[in-house]
Amino acid sequence: MTSVSEIEIIDALKLKTFDHHYQNIIQGIGDDGAITSIDPDYHLVTTTDAISEGVHYPKGIEAKAIGHRCLAVNLSDMAAMGAKPLWASLVFSRPSIDQLWLEQFISGFSELANKNNVTLIGGDTISGPELFSVTLQGIVPKNKSIRRSTAKIGNLVYVTGFLGNASQGLKIIQEDRQNSSSEQLIQDFLYPNPRLKESRAISQFATSMIDISDGFYSDLQKVMKASNVGAEIKISDLPISESLPNKMPRVDAVNVARFGGDDYELCFTIPREFKKDFLEEYQSTDRIGITCVGEIKEKNLLLLDDNNKEFKLSGRAFERF
Ligand code: ADP
Ligand code: MG
Repeated sequence: MTSVSEIEIIDALKLKTFDHHYQNIIQGIGDDGAITSIDPDYHLVTTTDAISEGVHYPKGIEAKAIGHRCLAVNLSDMAAMGAKPLWASLVFSRPSIDQLWLEQFISGFSELANKNNVTLIGGDTISGPELFSVTLQGIVPKNKSIRRSTAKIGNLVYVTGFLGNASQGLKIIQEDRQNSSSEQLIQDFLYPNPRLKESRAISQFATSMIDISDGFYSDLQKVMKASNVGAEIKISDLPISESLPNKMPRVDAVNVARFGGDDYELCFTIPREFKKDFLEEYQSTDRIGITCVGEIKEKNLLLLDDNNKEFKLSGRAFERF
């Protein structure tokens, strides 16, 4: 196992994540600080999210998935703000690094960065416990960012993609039950797909948006709290992928969809009067499916069953502490 020096790590990262055009980078990796500029018509949006072994991903998963993940979670936050990501900084901490591990980590990070025209402009490299922290900066036209705090009563609540796949994939990895039929769920956990393309259409119409990282139920409540509203959600409308209900009773699948974290889908609210225009715009190019799951109400989170009766909760939301 060949160990790699700090300079080799930085050089390898720099080589694979090249400067893209029109990025307004005056100084990238190589000085004490990076220098960038933004146009006066834009606001700068900054997100930071760190992932660590044993907390955000299980020990022993492939290095490519870790490189992908530390950027993906930030891209997902950027998508939820309605912003365009541009520049990333990476704090890279690991007890020791061998060449192959590093190459795989960088391929996961750089493939996702290059796909989204994101340039790595700096960071820090330390020998320590395994942890990766990315700060991502992006731009949004002035006053066009989408917040959590602006959902309005009567708005429709939508989510992208499917809910619950990633947490189920994680469970399968943790219990070491991988087989050919669990492939998709495992991929959904290992390689979350930040919904930037979707965000571009959604942010033209949405009143509020959040990305689903802790679980639909828990993240929707953050929107409700910030916007000082409630919501009514129809349980049978939650988008559950084919691969879930075949393997578990419907009620368990619904629980996974409500409470399972790590999906990195978007949850957003659309005024009813924009519904038609929004759907037309959203469906004008190839984007992941979306589902209307309910409506913003005055207060409380009410879950409705097929007969529009209250659906009683069991289980609890994901909590980190
Ligand atoms: P300094 O000692 O001045 O902080 P470093 O030797 O730590 O500088 O880093 C040199 C250059 O490499 C800086 O531009 C820094 O931002 C960049 N850099 C260091 N580690 C990383 C990393 N993990 N990812 C990207 N850039 C990095
Ligand atoms: Mg340093």
